[in-house]
Amino acid sequence: MPFQIFQSQARTILSPVSGFLREAGFTHSLTPSRNCTFGCTYCYVPTMRVQGGLQPDDWKHWGQWTTFKANAGELLASELRGSEIIYCSPLTDPYQPAEESFGLMRRILTTLAEASHPPRVFVIQTRGPLILRDLDLLARVSLKTRLRVSFSVTTNREDVRRTFEPHCGSITDRWLTIRRLREAGIPVTATLAPILPCDPEELLDRAMDLTSGPVVADPFHVRSVKKSGATTREPAQEICRRYGWEAWLDPAFHAEILETMRLRAAAANRIFCWGAPGFGLLVERPESFRPSQDLRGIHEPGNCLQRSLSNANPKQ
Ligand code: SF4
Repeated sequence: MPFQIFQSQARTILSPVSGFLREAGFTHSLTPSRNCTFGCTYCYVPTMRVQGGLQPDDWKHWGQWTTFKANAGELLASELRGSEIIYCSPLTDPYQPAEESFGLMRRILTTLAEASHPPRVFVIQTRGPLILRDLDLLARVSLKTRLRVSFSVTTNREDVRRTFEPHCGSITDRWLTIRRLREAGIPVTATLAPILPCDPEELLDRAMDLTSGPVVADPFHVRSVKKSGATTREPAQEICRRYGWEAWLDPAFHAEILETMRLRAAAANRIFCWGAPGFGLLVERPESFRPSQDLRGIHEPGNCLQRSLSNANPKQ
């Protein structure tokens, strides 16, 4: 897909978080650009409009260009205080296709690797195999802060992947990326979000095989249960109707799928958790994922929630 790359000078780069991310235990987000050249059909960000930091042309032409915050590295150096729990990024993919030529993440990671006050936690949320370009810097950053890559895999079916997210990497490439991150010693979590039509058990098994620690997930956000804020955008809903996948937009069906996956993970002594409690697990130390600790009631969603919320208060 042809896309354009623009750049701007941002006034700040770390934003205090609220809502979902705050509930998960993050304090700040870092969004390196506006608009995302992966252009997924379900992407929630354009439905947030100005609340997502977008301009009208961005939400009307989602995925056709991106505007990089070219001074992100310099701003980050001046804004870090050493106490932040950062999620990068809620509003764009840091390793979207345009990053290959712009290289902004290399500047951001270099800043983190050289920071005198590195953040407490830095989570990179991506689905871009391009992250492997930066293995050298990721290794340096992991010496300075608790780094975790949360890598998205949304289905085990390549036909489904191509239909909903034709500009993203193949499923094979994404599993391979997770494997290579892990082999390089970079903490990585498989994040099954949003869960697209799939064989949930096969998807979960693959995620558990290739990672240690918890597996995080999230179903489609739909208006029937989420009255405001970010939601699945219309092109993905249209795909569901056209291909007979409407059930994947039904909250009762979500609950069934998630419970099936949770029980399967529990049987394998692993944590499977979704929503804000699930994303809260990304900020925990890898050693807290040891199976001996994981088994103490963590498989109940209520306990998962409680454990995750305890991270929201940095004083605890
Ligand atoms: S990669 Fe993420 S931010 Fe980018 S279009 Fe897809 S869902 Fe949206």
